[in-house]
Amino acid sequence: MYIFKSYSPENTANLGKAIGKSLRGSEILCFSGDLGAGKTTLTQSIAEGMGIKDYVTSPTFTIINEYDGDIALYHFDVYRLGDPDELFDIGYDEYIDSDGVCIIEWSNLIESELPKDRLEIQLKRLDGENHREMHILATGDYHKELLERIEKELAKC
Ligand code: ADP
Ligand code: MG
Repeated sequence: MYIFKSYSPENTANLGKAIGKSLRGSEILCFSGDLGAGKTTLTQSIAEGMGIKDYVTSPTFTIINEYDGDIALYHFDVYRLGDPDELFDIGYDEYIDSDGVCIIEWSNLIESELPKDRLEIQLKRLDGENHREMHILATGDYHKELLERIEKELAKC
């Protein structure tokens, strides 16, 4: 488990850029944490780190937004998902098995549908308006290697 402490949106952006630069394709990043914890903010800086120029917005009502880049980004927000079957209607399986990167906000709501090997990021709001903690856990070898690259990237900051 790696714990990242953030005291501002800029700190969170540094984490996101380090993650974005460390991605190689086919990663699954699972975000949990309350409304306003910073899941979308973190996704925006991951996209920036991946070299994606588009502005990333919350896919709350569309469930998924796609962004093209050297590596494609598939950004899910499953908060308003009615029925888990809806996931499969939008092609969830194909996205998960693709060469692109999947980021899933509110992944805890679809826990049983998540692949075994993934990166879990739990975002916590602490006392103090801008204070956050990100608890990062890799659940398999592919994402353990990713987490090692992220830590190396952060050490350069
Ligand atoms: P979520 O997607 O988890 O609902 P958002 O990223 O949409 O959250 O919103 C997070 C809000 O909190 C933004 O307005 C952001 O500017 C603010 N914020 C304050 N401090 C931080 C921080 N340390 N990290 C991330 N966001 C922060
Ligand atoms: Mg969000």
